[in-house]
Amino acid sequence: MAVPRLYLDHNATAPIHPLVAEAVERAFRELRGNASSVHLEGRKARAIVEDAREQVAALLDADPEEVIFTSGGTEANNLALHGLLKLAPPNAPVGVSAIEHPSVLEPARAWGEPRMVILPAERSGVVNLEMALEYAGRPGAVLAIMLANNEVGTLQPVERVCRELSEGTLIHVDAVQAVGKVPISFRSLGATTLSLSAHKFQGPPGVGALLIRRDIDLPPLLHGGRQEKGKRPGTEPAALIHGLAVALRLACTEWMSQAKELGQLRDYLEEELLRLWPDAYVHGASAPRVYNTTNICFRGLDAQQLLLALDARGVACSTGSACSSGAPEPSHVLLAMGVSEAEARASLRISLGIPANRVFVDEALNRFADAIRAVARA
Ligand code: PLP
Repeated sequence: MAVPRLYLDHNATAPIHPLVAEAVERAFRELRGNASSVHLEGRKARAIVEDAREQVAALLDADPEEVIFTSGGTEANNLALHGLLKLAPPNAPVGVSAIEHPSVLEPARAWGEPRMVILPAERSGVVNLEMALEYAGRPGAVLAIMLANNEVGTLQPVERVCRELSEGTLIHVDAVQAVGKVPISFRSLGATTLSLSAHKFQGPPGVGALLIRRDIDLPPLLHGGRQEKGKRPGTEPAALIHGLAVALRLACTEWMSQAKELGQLRDYLEEELLRLWPDAYVHGASAPRVYNTTNICFRGLDAQQLLLALDARGVACSTGSACSSGAPEPSHVLLAMGVSEAEARASLRISLGIPANRVFVDEALNRFADAIRAVARA
């Protein structure tokens, strides 16, 4: 009999919620038109897109006009970084936190170098606040600091930095890993742009959004038609956008209401894993973290081997962000936190999601014990 799989990699992709899958499937079956067409079929698709825009705005406390749909988090981050760097004065200082996702770091490098400065991270997994505040205080600067880190789960002091922004300073906030895990109010945060991606909160892959503060006329990345106010030309995937809105509503209600229980399960899992391998420690344990993520250094073990041993025992987790997990390099996030290369290579990310309960975690722990024994013997 096949062993039931235990999926502990929700930060890579949170499997689509059954209600979202149903809603998307129905929309795919029922919608026939292009949201830009004037006929009835087109108007139906337009109504779905605009309804989704209103829901996203309401759930993230933004104005519907501020919501631009994209193909996902990578595109939203690129749109933001390219756009903000074009908007800023040519010599404006650019500060990007060292632990950003590559979809923020790379466009910042492409556009911002040589004026770009990497804002270092502390050992706790949090960006150096002093330096972030120094950049926030520079008029006309461009900053990028994520809300929650994808690899260690640490929450970043974005609210504090946004409060200290000087006149004309622009800040992009990657909220891809924060949505459904911490409450977000775009209005009170005061960020210039904020990105999200549906497949990180049990929505369909291939759709995301960028919130753009209404006073900012962000230049587009792609050039084409007038869709999404010309900021993201291309036919809107109405069914996927509908799925994003349904998933966001579920994440902001179902997920948030189970945050405490999931956090307790994560803490229990951590404690037991540290008991299984006494030389292990948790990255970012001293900082506030999202409730579902833990990243553990199993000192002396090879995380890649452990990952494979776990996979063979029906457990899915990760050694870094999914996008770079095929590459053998150690995580840039852990290295930026001052973790040695050897310890970064011994580190594993585990990210819980719904459904999870004590029985599920205990079963995962049994399989971890077996996998750890096998790797330690090898
Ligand atoms: N930003 C963060 C923090 C992420 O974790 C990811 C995906 O892992 C992305 C951006 C990219 O999102 P997408 O997979 O939708 O392109």
